[in-house]
Amino acid sequence: MQSSPSVVMNGHFASVGDKSTGKHYEHGIQVIDENKEFNQQLSSYLDAEKVTKSGFKYHLISVFGSQSTGKSTLLNHLFKTSFGVMSENERRQTTKGIWMSKNKRENNNDKAMADNILVMDVEGTDGRERGEDQDFERKSALFALATSEVLLVNIWEHQVGLYQGANMGLLKTVFEVNLQLFLKDSKSAPRSLLFFVIRDHIGNTPLVNLKNTLLQDMSRIWSTLAKPKGLENSKIEDYFDFAFAALPHKILQPEKFVEEVEKLSTRFREGYKDPKLAEVMDEGDQAVFLPEYHRRIPADGFSPYAEGIWDQIVNNKDLDLPTQQELLAQFRCDEISREVLVVFDELITPLEDKQAEGVRSGTPLTISGLGQTMNSARVAALKNFETEASRYHKGVYARKSKELVGKIDARLKALFAGQLSAAHKSGVHEFSESVSAAVKSGQKKGSNYDFAQIVDSQKKLALEKFEKEAKASVVDGASWSNYSQELNLYKKDLDDVSARLRKEEMRRLATRVERWVRSRLNESVGLEFNKLGSGRGGSGAPETGERHTAATEKELWDRIWKVFTDTVSDAETRFTERARSFDASPDEVEVGLWRLRRKSWGCLRAKLDEETMEGNILLKLRENFEDKFRYDDTGVPRIWRPTDDIEGIYTRARESTLTLIPLLARFRLSSTSAPPPLDAWIGAPPATVTAADEEDLAPIGGVDEEEGKSLEEEMTVLTDSKQADLGVRFKKTADGVYVEAKRSAIGAVAQ
Ligand code: GDP
Ligand code: MG
Repeated sequence: MQSSPSVVMNGHFASVGDKSTGKHYEHGIQVIDENKEFNQQLSSYLDAEKVTKSGFKYHLISVFGSQSTGKSTLLNHLFKTSFGVMSENERRQTTKGIWMSKNKRENNNDKAMADNILVMDVEGTDGRERGEDQDFERKSALFALATSEVLLVNIWEHQVGLYQGANMGLLKTVFEVNLQLFLKDSKSAPRSLLFFVIRDHIGNTPLVNLKNTLLQDMSRIWSTLAKPKGLENSKIEDYFDFAFAALPHKILQPEKFVEEVEKLSTRFREGYKDPKLAEVMDEGDQAVFLPEYHRRIPADGFSPYAEGIWDQIVNNKDLDLPTQQELLAQFRCDEISREVLVVFDELITPLEDKQAEGVRSGTPLTISGLGQTMNSARVAALKNFETEASRYHKGVYARKSKELVGKIDARLKALFAGQLSAAHKSGVHEFSESVSAAVKSGQKKGSNYDFAQIVDSQKKLALEKFEKEAKASVVDGASWSNYSQELNLYKKDLDDVSARLRKEEMRRLATRVERWVRSRLNESVGLEFNKLGSGRGGSGAPETGERHTAATEKELWDRIWKVFTDTVSDAETRFTERARSFDASPDEVEVGLWRLRRKSWGCLRAKLDEETMEGNILLKLRENFEDKFRYDDTGVPRIWRPTDDIEGIYTRARESTLTLIPLLARFRLSSTSAPPPLDAWIGAPPATVTAADEEDLAPIGGVDEEEGKSLEEEMTVLTDSKQADLGVRFKKTADGVYVEAKRSAIGAVAQ
């Protein structure tokens, strides 16, 4: 706050340094004090007077004239203000400075005064009369010209024509200052109205004569001015309009004075230049506020503008109004921008917080009603900015408007992107979940669900949902606010998820088909091994009753290979049909079939291992032997008699069964005596096979060469030592059977 002494005039005016409230402004404000300080309270004064929001609908008048010519008295009568008036008793000079007050007249007659008239009373302008320097005179003239539409020039009638008089010096200053001010851009320089109010008009000299005298004087003053280059031929009328009024002596004719002032007050209304109207209208009845006088400073910017102007003036800097107006525009546009952003923040910040919270928690959620809020917040901010800021310098406004749009859109863009990203994430997740759920419920009802159809319908739903969400989040009129690229990314991700789900579905299918292969193989291969136990009918292969012969034994592996390849071929057909039904690609099917063949071989190999476990194989050999030994060629059980060639039959049967051991030991086809073409049958790995596809596959000898196991080894069912061991054990069993037979033959004789 300023340390300058506060000046209280009539006890009502707020002055510099006064922390004023609305109440203190009852009668106005000291805009500039005697120390040339600008009053920071001006804007709150204008607020209190409800002028701030009036845009361009306000007017500024300044009064000029020699000290003690009744200026303040005139203003107080014209506008019902309370400017300081020199007391008639004390004849004490009022304090220097510029005072402002709003018109206090009630507008109740038909020729209503304009709204929001602000009047500036310039005290102590006439330095000459007080023998002071003319510094303040010049500065206040500059300030008044830069802000006011109308300059009231107060002059005694008897001073008119006194060209050398002090007031003429003041006018000279005003003209000089005007030239200085509007030098830069004379085309856009606003005109001002010089309104002469002639005081103590006695009436002997008609007003028109006084007017002519004054006009002549002014032309003379103008002609003596040193004009800047290019303006040598300019005329005073290029810058000023003139108006004249005369008032009777206030003290001698008080009633007449009041009456004339009332009349005069009606001229302070808005009008426009109309030559036709001017012809018919009494000159003394014309409106003073013409649009071309207005300085076009929006009311809410008046205070900073006036301060900026005054700062330039006080510091003796070149007062360049266009620059001042640009500076003001920047200042105000920034302020207005901040104000609209406060409202914007109230709406948008909670949404930003919510979104950030979602991202932090790892489960970003879409915000409902986001688009609506974004749109209304944006429209409101830009609309409010436009309303307030567009009154300022067009170029600055355009630039600041762009800046504001940039700030707003940067935030909305982030929200929009966050929303799309949340919709994307939750959409992909939901899609995956709902497909899995539908598959699960399909599985419960049996395995005949349509996977492709499930994926298609869920994808459609997921896309619809995303598009709906995205569309609802679009910010109108913002070119960045489109989601075609995001939609494509989303589609792509859904496709990726579909592919993954299809792969899982393929695995499930493969597992089912493998299970089927395993159970078929267990059954049919078990059957083949059972047949081994039925050498000559009897207990072996009761299901088929098929007789076992040496020839059929020899073809054991051929039958196993055939039943194996037939089963797998069946399975391949099933697998292919089903996989095709859910749009698996040929490549995926090819990999699936390749895996199926390998896994099937694993099943077979496991079954062979099971059948040739020691206990199982010994049992089969014994059954095979007993069939051959205890039954005759027609399948009838032998009753041993001592005369029978028990030893011969025993030896033949035993040798015959023993041939099974090397036969069983190796998987060989009888036609080629070679292992089946397992490697060719499985085939080379498909080109598109992945590491994941191979992860759970056991190596197969002769197929996976790098494993170092040959096909021969893969096809070895019983090792040499196992064979030898089996031979020994089998012989012991056979011997036992033989001894028993021998005993039963002797027993038969003994009976
Ligand atoms: P300012 O210094 O120009 O503002 O003049 P003031 O309004 O303070 O008035 C100065 C003195 O002139 C006061 O004593 C007033 O009473 C007196 N005065 C005001 N109006 C008139 C007028 O119309 N005629 C005459 N002769 N005196 C006036
Ligand atoms: Mg005064």
